[in-house]
Amino acid sequence: SVKGKVTAGDVDNLAPLMPLCMKEMHSHLQKENHLRHGGRMQFGLFLKGIGLPIEEALVFWRQSFSKITDDQFAKNYAYNIRHNYGLEGKRVDYSPYNCMRIITSNQPGPGDHHGCPFRHMGRDGERIRARMLADGLSESDAQEVVNLVAGQHYQIACTKHFELSQKARTPQETGSAGGVRTIEHPNQYFDQAYRLRE
Ligand code: SF4
Repeated sequence: SVKGKVTAGDVDNLAPLMPLCMKEMHSHLQKENHLRHGGRMQFGLFLKGIGLPIEEALVFWRQSFSKITDDQFAKNYAYNIRHNYGLEGKRVDYSPYNCMRIITSNQPGPGDHHGCPFRHMGRDGERIRARMLADGLSESDAQEVVNLVAGQHYQIACTKHFELSQKARTPQETGSAGGVRTIEHPNQYFDQAYRLRE
């Protein structure tokens, strides 16, 4: 992951290196200044995984939830953030979720922004297509992603999106057979993207 400490102020700059699931939650958080529980868990643990320490996590979430008072933040949110870092309750040091868990459990409902966009943006593929085009993919590349989603190959669709949006076609990153290692974990996506920028 990132060398040295990630600060609250770094998160926005690192967003382009995040997988689509995290980008969706980050942009929702920026627009609405709120994120429901499932999103706070998935995104919060991901941020912990990229190297955001607890004190910076508290700053990041406090700044993001800009429409509430310090008191409301302390009462309703700070505990859960500290909990994710193993500082409350049973003091379990929770790990960021992998793709399989995100795809198969805790399905997002209306108003939720967690989950895997490739799995949860709708079976007809139109929202994913629009999202891929917005990320600068060509019509034919966007169609390839839509086809993978239709075939329920969500992680391969994410890997394709990684290749096309992070320009990961260098031999040292591709390993074998000309393909990037299949994305199994959002933090793997981030780490690979981060290494490409070094
Ligand atoms: Fe996130 Fe994994 Fe889905 Fe990619 S495949 S968007 S990393 S959950």
